[in-house]
Amino acid sequence: MTNINWFPGHMQKARREVAERIKQVDIVFEVVDARVPESSRNPMLLSMLNQKPRIAILNKADLADPNRTKQWLAAYQAAGQSALAIDAQHANRLQQVAQLATQQLADKIARKKARGIKNPHIRAMCIGIPNVGKSTILNRLVHKNIAVTGNRPGVTKNQQWLKAGDNLDLLDTPGILWPKFENQQVGLRLALSGAIADTVFNDDDVALWGLEYFMREYPARLRKAYGLNDADLALAPNDLMVHLSDKLGFGEEYDRMATRFINDVRKGELGRYTLEVPEADHADA
Ligand code: GDP
Repeated sequence: MTNINWFPGHMQKARREVAERIKQVDIVFEVVDARVPESSRNPMLLSMLNQKPRIAILNKADLADPNRTKQWLAAYQAAGQSALAIDAQHANRLQQVAQLATQQLADKIARKKARGIKNPHIRAMCIGIPNVGKSTILNRLVHKNIAVTGNRPGVTKNQQWLKAGDNLDLLDTPGILWPKFENQQVGLRLALSGAIADTVFNDDDVALWGLEYFMREYPARLRKAYGLNDADLALAPNDLMVHLSDKLGFGEEYDRMATRFINDVRKGELGRYTLEVPEADHADA
């Protein structure tokens, strides 16, 4: 897990470094969190890619709502963008990363073969905001545990290529970009899912926003997790929070209830969830 304090100078330097390294690869693996596929990306990456092929990797799919993951993949596909949902922690569907990269670079590989190169290698790198699973993916793809040192912007070190299969070479250091915080919703989604650990938001705001979201989108989960009935679920979110606090024994210590709710969501006590759905206009924004 990487903890980075972003400030403008830092961001500029990170962006320059990542842009420099993008030049060295044939394809970029853009890693996002499947529970917040849009909010956990940095929109600046697209311009930095400069037309370079990219595969969107929706990681932590084991924690995300499978129906919504399907919707997200369909949206990417409709936008002509190759995308894949994986669970790197359990090495689920990881082999498809190399397959997809080979597919996407078929023309380039064919051209190299025509020039007499027997087994043309694909060079790739993982890029994403902190904590989306870049290092986990890297380690799984190269089948060993690499201490990813220097895994922060501003710390330069010699790049190394790691073998991740017969024809896939990976840069040993993932590219780190910052979350975009374009609006408050984005921050709240990232905070609730734990995609970012510490935020400018306080737990009360995050929990209340989350409770409202689950009441609207996943009421059955709340019912089950906290033994709620129809009348409870008809309450205003604020009142339900008070009710839960009482029910779970926190009394008037609402801040403890807020923290408990956030932890329950993050630990998956309320099941698998996704905090945003694709909109036609931002599937490939
Ligand atoms: P990075 O900052 O992007 O390099 O993220 P890490 O690889 O350090 O992963 C951040 C956290 O997410 C770690 O605790 C990982 O164990 C966890 N993690 C990574 N991939 C997955 C996944 O697919 N599913 C789940 N549940 N956890 C994951």
